Amino acid sequence: MNRFAIITILLYLFVFQTGFSQNDSLTIYNKYKPIADKIIQKAFSDSSAFNKLAYFCDVFGPRLSGSSNLVKALDWLKTELQNDGFENVKAEEVMVPHWVRGREYCRLLSPREANISLNSLGGSISTPPEGVTAPVIVVNDVKELDSLADKIKGKILLFNEPFINYGQAVQYRFYGAKWAAKYGAVASLIRSVSPLEHQNLHTGVMGYNDSIPKIPHAAITPEDASMLQRMQNLGITPIINIYSECKTLPDTMSHNIMGDITGSVYPNEIIAIGGHTDSWDLGTGAHDDASGVIAALQAGRILLDLGIKPKRTIRITGWVNEENGSRGGIAYRDKHKNEKHVLMLEQDSGIFPPESIRFTGPDSILKLLKYAEPLFKQIADIKVDIGGGGVDIGPMMKLGVPGISVGNEDNGKYFWYHHSNADTVDKINPHNFNKTIAAIALAIYIYSDFNFELPGNIK
Ligand SMILES: [Zn+2]
Repeated sequence: MNRFAIITILLYLFVFQTGFSQNDSLTIYNKYKPIADKIIQKAFSDSSAFNKLAYFCDVFGPRLSGSSNLVKALDWLKTELQNDGFENVKAEEVMVPHWVRGREYCRLLSPREANISLNSLGGSISTPPEGVTAPVIVVNDVKELDSLADKIKGKILLFNEPFINYGQAVQYRFYGAKWAAKYGAVASLIRSVSPLEHQNLHTGVMGYNDSIPKIPHAAITPEDASMLQRMQNLGITPIINIYSECKTLPDTMSHNIMGDITGSVYPNEIIAIGGHTDSWDLGTGAHDDASGVIAALQAGRILLDLGIKPKRTIRITGWVNEENGSRGGIAYRDKHKNEKHVLMLEQDSGIFPPESIRFTGPDSILKLLKYAEPLFKQIADIKVDIGGGGVDIGPMMKLGVPGISVGNEDNGKYFWYHHSNADTVDKINPHNFNKTIAAIALAIYIYSDFNFELPGNIK
């Protein structure tokens, strides 16, 4: 076969498979420019999304799995979906863990008396009623812990690992109790997982290992962790008393909430978009992740308001229990794996200036999304790149469904607020919120409109 024939066949296959011509960038731009203009104009036109976010966070408060706050917030979300005109609005049952904090405190007893701020990490056991009183031994990392193995017994171990990045620091939050208990520590503490040193406490999930004794596990502020380290460096052994009442109650019933815009051409092909409705019990989970849930809700609402009919079904979803069990994402997969999903979108990285559309899926589709980049540039300096995903959409993505998220430029600030009392609505910039919503609405609309067979969990 000569070269010309091969090129002709390849071109034919490309056009046939994607429905776009050779000059795709211009084709996509021209095709979607009018609708992009409308979406952006609508998203930027008012503060209704921000007001919904404020309502969700300020009226219901923190939404830890098992809490009555979460029950009320989920009822509200379901009613909003119904009132907004979404179809098939549902609350699907999910059993979730139920951990509660209770009273807790920490006292420095020697070399002087002082209060130390402390918060138990999610899933920790309580102390005995009299608390735990013991000398503190400070280590910077696991290597140092191993080198001091014979000095740990009977002590309260403090991991004073400075924040380099989240992935590294969070290891101490999750595994710290079992690492410490292995050498006989009676309790373990971590330096709060955050780059910011503003006397702030950060909670988050931790784990035990059934073969190792369970000991209380909590976070203290970076300032107090540094102080205890300095005392040790001076040859002083601080003695502290820790008290906490936290406990794990039996699992309780909660719900994934969802509502659809039924596809006009391929109603049985689903694009599920959303975030997680639960949050930690500190702050009000504004960045993490009320913003993701409300952004998806508003993106759908914009399409409805503009009378835009996506070819495929768009499902607005609030997954539950991302923070301490990931049960919502797993339950969603178990319940819906027999419906064809062609895309999952999860927004769970807070609200900052959007800078990317992150996509995990076939290169051929990434290429088409890249052609749409000039449209996203109308919203902000957004590029299309690889890397979309999330805890809640992970189970469906493992079955072959592509994933997408809007990436942002947070300059490290997300972890200033993450899982702390400071994760509140005042930290959300309404303009960045509207930009994120516009990017979500445009991305899912373009994706839903592709007129070729999309990959998913079902062929
Ligand atoms: Zn989150």
